[in-house]
Amino acid sequence: MSDKGYDPRVDIFRKCFEFNEDLEAREGGYYLIFRALESGQDPAVVLEGRSLINLASNNYLGLTSHPRVKEAAGRALQRYGTGCSGSRWLNGNMIIHEELERELAAFLGKESAVVFATGYQTNLGALSCLVGKDDVLITDKLDHASILDGARMSLGRMVRFRHNDMDHLETVLKREAGRAKLIVVDGVYSMEGDLADLPGIADLARQHQARVFVDDAHGLGVVGPGGKGSAAHFGLEGEVDLIMGTFSKSLACIGGFVAGAERPVSWVKHRSRSQIFSAALPPVLTATARAALETLRDEPGIVDRLWSNRERLRSGLQDLGFDTGLSQTPIIPVVLGSEPLLFAMTLKLTEEGLFVNPVRPPGVPQGREMLRLSLMATHTEQQIDKALEILARVARTLGVIT
Ligand code: PMP
Repeated sequence: MSDKGYDPRVDIFRKCFEFNEDLEAREGGYYLIFRALESGQDPAVVLEGRSLINLASNNYLGLTSHPRVKEAAGRALQRYGTGCSGSRWLNGNMIIHEELERELAAFLGKESAVVFATGYQTNLGALSCLVGKDDVLITDKLDHASILDGARMSLGRMVRFRHNDMDHLETVLKREAGRAKLIVVDGVYSMEGDLADLPGIADLARQHQARVFVDDAHGLGVVGPGGKGSAAHFGLEGEVDLIMGTFSKSLACIGGFVAGAERPVSWVKHRSRSQIFSAALPPVLTATARAALETLRDEPGIVDRLWSNRERLRSGLQDLGFDTGLSQTPIIPVVLGSEPLLFAMTLKLTEEGLFVNPVRPPGVPQGREMLRLSLMATHTEQQIDKALEILARVARTLGVIT
């Protein structure tokens, strides 16, 4: 099928007209993406007029509705208006971007930081300018898609090692001796919720003259003392050369940054195409991220609440006999391993009052289909207990647990 009389053999839209995945899923009643919420990212959300316990958010610290954060956003809106209307290179740079950069660097114990408009753009821009023509970018097989896309945009070569497999990483490093190398890993893996083996990676990096870049999107505000991230968790702040992070999880909005020594950060700031050719992070978001960071710094007890919620859900799930994969963090997968089961479970959970993220390929490898559950510091114990009760009831009905 085509429209406007185009010959399908040469119509660039042919694939679009042949694409029917979404239509089939809608028809079959299992279209479970792009579900439109009628509320904010709170511990309970409203979907189609019903309140559901939210075990699907990356709002780990619950700061999207924290009074201090909302007030800062409101003040920035009044003072600066809604947009920067240009790249930071030219007219779009504001004093608040630079203040945020200084605070991020200080929080992470790094010399310098540079802020981008999204986390995705951060990886795209930073990795593509760091890895030049004869260089090698070494990634873990479970690294986030934005890292892979950054690698694709770079002129260098990408080599992948098996997930958290230090023997394999060593083999790769030995093979690439003589080349400039950057090892790029997630600090916390976004689907499995496990931690990168940073001690092993740092050790091998030093032996083989590679630099280390950690995407700590899910580590910042979550792991390490005071939520300082995965490098701090292992006491390896000095060994991780560049820490990348996003504001779209713990820091309550969207945006990204790279922090590290002054010269590499300056290189990224002046050579990232996604920084140069895209408009700056709007003032409201810059102020939001800054207030969220300051709240994290001033109220580290929030991180403890996140972890006690995590322990409650994780131990409850384990007692019930669920397969919680590799989880070491407030991201807890419930591995189901089959797409029909994943859809059935998600639909039934929604009906029973639970909002969860169903993850299928390409989000996870085939056979690893999972519900990706995640906690917030602001969940109550009653909400977690109620969620466990719903999960148990639904999973028993579907034969996931006995
Ligand atoms: N890295 C990781 C590990 C992520 O999970 C994400 C977001 N899903 C990103 C980068 C991109 O961040 P953002 O949403 O701010 O674009």
